[in-house]
Formats: sequence, structure tokens, C-alpha cells
Amino acid sequence: VLRHGPPTSHVRTTCGYCGVGCSFDAGLRDGRVVSMVPSDDGPSNHGHACLKGRFGWTYNDAEDRVRRPLLRDGTGWKAVGWEQALDLVARSFSRIKDQAGPDAAAVISSSRGTNEENYLFGKFIRCVMGTNHIDNCARVCHSATVTGMMETLGASAATNSIRDLDAAKLIMVVGANPTESHPVLGAKLLQLARRGLPLIVIDPRRTEVARAATIHLQLKPGTNVALLNGLGHVIAAEGLLNRSFIEQRTEGIDDWLATVKDYPPEVVERLTGVPAEDIRRAARMYAASGASLSVHGLGVTEHRWGSHGVMALVDLALATGNIARPGTGINPLRGQNNVQGASDSGCLPTHFVGYQLLDDPVVAARHHAITGRPLPPRRGMKIPDMWDAALDGRLKGLWIIGYDVAQTDPNLKKVREALSRLEFLVVQDLFVSQTAKFAHLLLPGASFLEKDGTFTNLERRIQRIRKAVEPPDGILPDWQVVCEVSTRMGYPMRYNHPSEIMDEMASLSPMLAGVSYERLDRPQALQWPVPDKQHPGTWLMHGETFARGKGRFVGVEYLPPGEQPSEDYPFVLVTGRLLEHYNCGAQTRRTEIIELVDSDVLEMHPDDAARLGFTAGQLVRLVSARSTAVLPVAPSDRVRRGELFTSFHFPGTDLNSLLSSSADESSKCPEYKVSTVRVEPVERD
Ligand code: SF4
Repeated sequence: VLRHGPPTSHVRTTCGYCGVGCSFDAGLRDGRVVSMVPSDDGPSNHGHACLKGRFGWTYNDAEDRVRRPLLRDGTGWKAVGWEQALDLVARSFSRIKDQAGPDAAAVISSSRGTNEENYLFGKFIRCVMGTNHIDNCARVCHSATVTGMMETLGASAATNSIRDLDAAKLIMVVGANPTESHPVLGAKLLQLARRGLPLIVIDPRRTEVARAATIHLQLKPGTNVALLNGLGHVIAAEGLLNRSFIEQRTEGIDDWLATVKDYPPEVVERLTGVPAEDIRRAARMYAASGASLSVHGLGVTEHRWGSHGVMALVDLALATGNIARPGTGINPLRGQNNVQGASDSGCLPTHFVGYQLLDDPVVAARHHAITGRPLPPRRGMKIPDMWDAALDGRLKGLWIIGYDVAQTDPNLKKVREALSRLEFLVVQDLFVSQTAKFAHLLLPGASFLEKDGTFTNLERRIQRIRKAVEPPDGILPDWQVVCEVSTRMGYPMRYNHPSEIMDEMASLSPMLAGVSYERLDRPQALQWPVPDKQHPGTWLMHGETFARGKGRFVGVEYLPPGEQPSEDYPFVLVTGRLLEHYNCGAQTRRTEIIELVDSDVLEMHPDDAARLGFTAGQLVRLVSARSTAVLPVAPSDRVRRGELFTSFHFPGTDLNSLLSSSADESSKCPEYKVSTVRVEPVERD
């Protein structure tokens, strides 16, 4: 993309799309970005990129960017000045706090924003409002990973680095579609498979990595725990346990053994649809490779029993000693560019920055000393709790930053009803999103090309983003907006640069204590934990000891998903992402990429399509117990008979309104991956 001539200078930055965190050199000419070239020395991409990072940035100059604060005016908007807008936010939250108390307000922070912005939104809700009601979109993607890995290992982030894939002797890809959702990492997996690395893929759908796999365990949606326990059964029954690792590094093996003994392969075949012999073969390969590493995605977490799926995966690694060594480990593929960092930065209702517990007196004392305000000890609301609280009137004010809940959360009717009940909703975004349509005030946001800060990628690497161009019309970066509002509410927040915010985060969090912009400016940046200023960062977690001491086995039983196919709703619908688009599609739909894919489509097995008389491209109506959606059919043998797949990148489809309202009990991660529907022809006029 060189429509405006070749660049005259470059600025090193980090991709604003997925969690791989590719480094790019933004090419500049006449004050605008004219190219994005992947950096040869980028630690996670080494000169590689996918089409989103390489060509999907021109939304930055889109005509319909929000350029001024917009105040609700009947059914439309009225442009107002920044002073008026910031005064209104401060006045509204002050009034809510005075009249209804601190717990009547909440923040949903952004996995697209920087660590520094996310930290400041946490500081706002804790120090200015006095509550822990803050969450981010990790709630609907990898919160089950956080629960599952914290419980078993004491830390929820990837145990390894991307470079460590090269040290593995076998890789198991569980419920992830990396060639579409994490394309540079997905391409690396394909390269390794072509060089002969054994690949086990566990997925209901025949994805690109599944086609390249040594063995594809094509299970029924929602049966991960049964299958993983089945692998465990074979490993235990055939004497493939790593006894010395179990004795030295773990606790609770007996609970797990007692659980997996009830999952012989023939039983698991009936539950999952995976042939018993494939289960045996995969278990032997995983246990005996010498260095097996797993990566997992939302196909593990976005289930009613998602945190159990994560625990079952950790159990396998502990049982075989496939963790805490190079080439082994458990690696959640975090989706959005900074979803790891948003949680690290304290945008969680349960933890303060650096995953510190809210009721720890040492943490509370440090917080008080540095911020001058007490750390509210009571846990806050998770996002689904916020909808309940808005509906029953407990939640009155909400600030949502860079997150289109009204398109991407499940159970959209409820979400929209909740948004419409709020006394004051302020949304900060680049565009008028579906969520913004419910806002009383819409504040424009600065894009990742227009500000300084850091993103943390899926391997815990904290990387700089650097301001390449000025934002249009004096748009303030989010960190300055929150400083202005806090200062107006009587709690001055003043920083000259995001580096000072990072310094404050480092002073508050032992895991970030050695982080500074000066140290992040080297090409490799730093991978947390970085406990002091001399520490080189951590490329492999849990080397000597697990974060919680001993790795803990938690035997988990298989429990069925929230919905089962029935006469009325005979198909199981799975949702996911496409290579060309990104989540709600707000950015990619505004770039040339739209010429490649311009709608969501419904993948249906060719036999089902033929049985129902559907042809390619025909519009059909999906009907669930909650809603309907119309999509064109794409017959495909990537899905099995009785199963369907589609994406949710286009708001017109309103796809997420169909989805099940089930969620993981402990993390509240929604069950995006199993909803039952029927499919009807759309009658033509
Ligand atoms: Fe950006 Fe992810 Fe593509 Fe890399 S793989 S260019 S981080 S979207």
C-alpha cells in the first residue's frame, strides 16, 4: 500500500491486531502512515506478518472516524468541545458516587488499549470511585484460562515463548485455529509440521492445522474434558507417567488418577465421537515425545466448563512432566493485541496490577503509600454481573473503552437492554460502534498509530508502541482522558508521558518491578516476570518451582455443555474468527481487506446442505431459542454432519444474539462454542 508515495521515515511499533505482537516499521510521508513493513528483528515475527497487520491499518484514515466528542441529542448526536465532554463525565460519575455510592459505577476497559491506559482506568475506578468494578474482554475469551491455570500453576500466562516452539518435539493444538486467529504463529506451526514435527490437533472443525496434523482428534463440541481425561487414562494405564516429576514438583496426583480411571478410550469414544484407537495413539505420542508443548485457544475456554478444560490440559502436562522445560508447557493463545496486558495491568475485578490479591495487607499498604488512597478490598463485578446490576438498577454509570459489547458479547438482547437502562454510559471508540448507539456521550479515541505506550503479547513480552502520526483534530489518547476526568473529580493524575505511568506500575507490582521504557527500547523488549532492574526477563515460566509452589492436579469430571441438540434445534453452532477480519470487524471492514471477504457465511456439511436442499450462497435463517440470523450457506467438509460454523465480524448478521447464555461457572466465560439452532430456508418475495 504505497498510494501516497514511498515513506521518508519509519517508526518502530507493534501490531494492533492479535496477540502474536508482530513488530512493524510504520513508513511515514507528509505526516501520514503510508506503509507497514514487518521488522526483521521483531522478536515474535522475524520479518513475517499477516494481511491484517501488513494491509489492515488504513482504517486509521477512515472518513467516519469519530473526531469530536459527541453528545446524545435525541436520536442523533451533537458535537461538543473536549472541556464540556470531560466536565460531563466527571460530573456524572461524581453524582452517581454521591447519590448511589461507589458500587453504582463500573469500567469495562480495553484489550486494544495500552497497558498504561488500562492501569489508569483501574486507578480511576479504585482511587476515584472507590470500587473494584472493572473488567476487560478477557472475561469472554480467556478468563477460564486465568481460573484454570491460577488454580493449578499459580500463574495464568503462557509458560513459554514463541521461539520455544522450535524446541518442542511434539505440539498439541487444542481448540485453536492459529492460521486464522494468530496467523504468524499458525504459519510457524505449519512450517514445523512440514519439517516433520508431530502435531496433534484437537478440534471439532477440520482447520488448516488439522489438515497438516499427524493426528486430528475431531471431537464433538463441548467434550474437551472427556477427551483430555481419556488421554490421561491411557497415559496412566500404560505406565507413561513421569513419576520423578510428579513426586518432586506436584501434588494431588491421586485425585487425578481416581478421575481418569473412569475414562477408558471406548467410553470416551462414545462421549466425544473420537475413535478409541486415535485416543490411544495420541496419548502415547504426547507422553513419549520427550518434549510436548500445547497451545490452546477459545475452543477450550469458551465453554460452560471451560476452566475445567484448562485444568484437564494442565493435568496432562503435570502427569507427563511436559512443563517447566524448554519445548514443553501450556500456552494460551491470547486473542487481542493487549488482552494479556489489560489483565496484567489490573483491569480485573479480582486482582490488582500484576495479579496481586485485593485483600493482601502488603499489597494494600503499597497501594496506599503510592496512590494515597486505600485499595478497595471487596471483589468487583465481572462483566456479566454488570449486566444483571444494570438491569436491576444497582449499576447506574458505566465507562466502556474500545470494546463493542453490543456486537461481540453473547446474549445480546440482555446486553442491549442493560445498556439502555444505565443513567450514564460513556463510550470511547474510534467509530460509532453498536455499543456507542446506547451511549449518552461518545468520546473519540486515538489509534495505536497515534500514541505511545506498551502492549503485552501472548508470550508475556511487553513491547513499545510509538506515536507515528498525530491523531486527527486534537483527539486525546485515552490515558490523558482518564487523567483529565480524575483531576476534575478531585484526584489529580498528572503524567508527562506513558513511561511515567509504567514506572508507577513497576513500583506497585513485583512482577513488573524491573520494567522501564529504557529497558523496553531494546528489540527483544522484556517478558514478565521481571523482578528487578537487572533481571533479563523470563522466557520460560516455572523453571525451578511453580508460581504456587507445587503444580496441583485437579481431577475434573466431564459435564455436558449447556445445550444439547433437540428436535426443535438439531444443529450445534460453533462460532469463531476468519483470517481476513478481526473480532467485531470495525477496523478490517474499513480497509481494502473487505474486498476479499464481505460477509459472514455459514459452513454446513455438504450432506446436510444436500439433505435440506441448500445450495452454495443461498440465504438461510438460523433460529435459536433466543433469536434469528440470516446468512449465506457455504457447504464445507471442514465441519461434521450436524454441526455448523460461522464468524461474527459483520454487525448486520447480529449473530451473537443467537448464542447460548451458558457460561463457565467460576470465570463466567460464555459458551460461544456450543449453541443449538435449526436452519430454515429464507423465502424469497
Ligand atoms: Fe498482527 Fe497478529 Fe498478523 Fe502479526 S499475526 S501481523 S500481530 S494480526
